[in-house]
Amino acid sequence: MDKKNNTTATNFPPVVAVLGHVDHGKTTLLDAIRKTSVADREKGGITQKIGASSVEIEHEGKKRKITFIDTPGHEAFTKMRGRGATAADLALLIVSLADSVKPQTQESIKILLESKTPFVVVLTKADLPDLIPEKSKKDLGKEGILLEGYGGDVPYIEVSAKTGSNIKELLDLILLMFDMHKGADYEKEISASKPFQAIVIEAKLDSRTGSKATIIVKNGSVAPRDMLKVDGHVFKVRTLIDDLGKPVQKATVGDAVEIFGFAKVPSVGSIITNESEATKPAEIMPDVARSKEAIYVREEEHKGLSVMLVADSQGSLEAIINALPEGIKLVSQKTGEVTDADIILGKSTGSIILSFNTKIKPEMAILAKSEKILLRNYEIIYELLEEIHDAQEGKLLSQMEQVFGKAKILAKFPYEKTFAFGVSVTEGRIARGDHVRVMRGETTVVETKISSVRIGKDPTSKVEAGKEAGTVLANPLDILVGDVILSHS
Ligand code: GDP
Repeated sequence: MDKKNNTTATNFPPVVAVLGHVDHGKTTLLDAIRKTSVADREKGGITQKIGASSVEIEHEGKKRKITFIDTPGHEAFTKMRGRGATAADLALLIVSLADSVKPQTQESIKILLESKTPFVVVLTKADLPDLIPEKSKKDLGKEGILLEGYGGDVPYIEVSAKTGSNIKELLDLILLMFDMHKGADYEKEISASKPFQAIVIEAKLDSRTGSKATIIVKNGSVAPRDMLKVDGHVFKVRTLIDDLGKPVQKATVGDAVEIFGFAKVPSVGSIITNESEATKPAEIMPDVARSKEAIYVREEEHKGLSVMLVADSQGSLEAIINALPEGIKLVSQKTGEVTDADIILGKSTGSIILSFNTKIKPEMAILAKSEKILLRNYEIIYELLEEIHDAQEGKLLSQMEQVFGKAKILAKFPYEKTFAFGVSVTEGRIARGDHVRVMRGETTVVETKISSVRIGKDPTSKVEAGKEAGTVLANPLDILVGDVILSHS
């Protein structure tokens, strides 16, 4: 059977994240959704125990599951993105009809577009009197979100979590959207046969049961007693618990379960693999988003410099924005101070973060450094703009890394089926294991690693400036005499 064209059924639930401004009704909507679940009704109650919930509904004559990530807000979403993966296949952008677009709505939109996550706009509180739904739709249009029937193709639905109106229709819409992406089901089936990979969406230390985390399975499946690895630690799965607090024997693609047995509390956004697997976050981007048919998402590839701006006041922010040179992609702009969510967004979008007249907290500076994000504060707008100019010319990129040393290549000769190089260390030091960039003038020839270093015939770990040495590089083919080795962080 050609599964690619089978758009009807899937046993794999879509994983859905809920984003939007505070008080726009995310929590109430999730409660209302859980009440529609067949599974919960059969159980006669709602006993959600973990950071995600699974609802089961009748959809086109079949029982279908949807997994909702309960951790509301964009911060958790941003954290996951920062680690190169996202747990959600689809998202709901919650906008209250009573309040329309607010700052966190704008941030959520940015995150959804950046992460290319398909989404449905859910206009909430439809039961309230004197609403002007057209205002919210128009305001969304101003943010670049053009709804179906309003010049665009972003699906939307007006719901009331209070009266339950359109809740079932929303769930049908989610499944429809998921199925409509031909191949989403197919991709999930492929994912199910791959080695196990999951993403941590919530984690804590429980005084009774030890470290535990809620995970979303992206590839393969997991069962009690499996040996897994997360954040470099190996552990044995003790128990798996579903959202009703019930132990389960197996969780597979799209399922959310709580895992017990961690050696220590894992980080949100970490990827869990089988003990023997290497972690490859790039492979667990959302299935649907990977599909070329993600029509809900504005495709906007940008080659220029990505910048995030933080300023002390709206006035300075506007002054800076007005003076920005062409070719800058402004990923975010805000007043206030730099937070860890900014740094994580900076990492996930490859941006530099420039702040104006604000104090950068030492812990933020440390985080930025460890995430290798350029974060700087300026007190003169001109200097900030100069920095952007430099960054555009690529000068800053070399400042973002620490250079440990430089060496000039004096000779190249065959050595044990590869090549060795005679070098003269001109600055700092070079050492075995260093990451190096080999430069020919201003051009990078290759990024590689130092496999070994010798002084004379003796292997050594490090050679200081002023000395000559023999080195073997991991990738020697294109390197010539006269090139310069730059050892960096
Ligand atoms: P969250 O911060 O986005 O999770 O928002 P909440 O779910 O906590 O809702 C914020 C407020 O809006 C609460 O007082 C809710 O009772 C109210 N609310 C949420 N959904 C609805 C709705 O559909 N109709 C009405 N009238 N009020 C709602």
